[in-house]
Amino acid sequence: MDLFSKFDDLIAERAAVLGNGGADPFELVMDEVVSATEAVVDGRPIILAGTYNYMGMTFDPDVIAAGHDALDRFGSGTTGSRVLNGTYAGHKLLEQRLADFYGTAHAMVFSTGYQANLGICSTLAGKGDYILLDADCHASIYDGCAMGSADIVRFRHNNAEDLARRLRRLPAEAGKLVVLEGVYSMLGDRAPLADLVRVAKDAGAMVLVDEAHAMGFIGERGRGVTEAEGVEDQVDFIVGTFSKSVGTVGGYCVSNHPKFEVLRLVCRPYMFTASLPPSVVATAAESIRLIQTRGADKRQQLWDNSRRLHGALSAAGFQLGTERPESAIIAVVLPDLETAIAMWQALLDAGVYVNVARPPATPFGMVLLRCSLCAAHRPDQIDAIVAAFLHAAEAAKLDLSGTRRADA
Ligand code: PMP
Repeated sequence: MDLFSKFDDLIAERAAVLGNGGADPFELVMDEVVSATEAVVDGRPIILAGTYNYMGMTFDPDVIAAGHDALDRFGSGTTGSRVLNGTYAGHKLLEQRLADFYGTAHAMVFSTGYQANLGICSTLAGKGDYILLDADCHASIYDGCAMGSADIVRFRHNNAEDLARRLRRLPAEAGKLVVLEGVYSMLGDRAPLADLVRVAKDAGAMVLVDEAHAMGFIGERGRGVTEAEGVEDQVDFIVGTFSKSVGTVGGYCVSNHPKFEVLRLVCRPYMFTASLPPSVVATAAESIRLIQTRGADKRQQLWDNSRRLHGALSAAGFQLGTERPESAIIAVVLPDLETAIAMWQALLDAGVYVNVARPPATPFGMVLLRCSLCAAHRPDQIDAIVAAFLHAAEAAKLDLSGTRRADA
């Protein structure tokens, strides 16, 4: 028995969809990256409209200088875990910056956001405890739940009533963790956190909010939907990543819980992996400092960009993931993968890169072309993205009065 035979359907589907000889959206190579919003692919300039570089920090001169300096002074990597030789002064400084940014007592840095969720979800809730998670939560949260030994209960996406109903069925004395996200990355919709957190707290549950797609951008100080909804004092744990607004790589969890620091001794995805390289840690710390001190203009610019793209695409008749712009993610809903890939190719030919998103990443089996915007996008770049979508819809014969292909 060939262990790969379970992938035969996927291999066949992929061959069928890519049979036209076009580029593979899941294997695109950026030959050069020129700025936060521009790259070169196959020798041609491309507008990047499918990165998580929300605040445009990747080419900030101060961020780059901080990285160079740390590389020179501390070398290319730590070659060890945080609990052995892998905690440098830079890691502690970064944790202090995070705690300052959120105004929390504790901050713990992981090597990726994926590992932060894996570690926190699997460690906090153990045997006899319950994790209640929003059905649309990210794969890293699902994987963290699968790794731990708590009982897992899913509730309907953004549905406080369903959460309340499911909480009522659980033993009153059992430990409970409600896991939510601020912004959901597939459709770009926000959580009604005030309602959800109230329901969770009424049932005596602890609350974790993953702010991966909101940190930096949403909230008056960029602390996320938790800040925007005024529930910071009721949320027990915030998880986030450096791979989006912060513009590098890494993950974190912040909290005011008095016993939080014990997690460093029991959280396996924190302990059994190497710590982040000094240059990465230094770029993250500098980027967070800049977001904290100079983020307001960028947030304004990003909201302008989000409104401009959402307004133009919805006026053109595209079906979007949200009725109004709720984040920096604008998702275009398409009828099938074939149309999505044809449009993705036409967009690339017109000089625009967006993401193709499909199940299992997407809810309800949806196929999406997902735009994610950057504060550094200029209005003319947003207009070019819209023009490219119109061209791509025509090339793929997408009926803009609905979501069916015109020839289907
Ligand atoms: N949480 C959410 C909601 C995400 O969307 C992602 C990545 N897309 C992660 C966590 C993982 O972040 P990282 O890239 O740092 O592993």
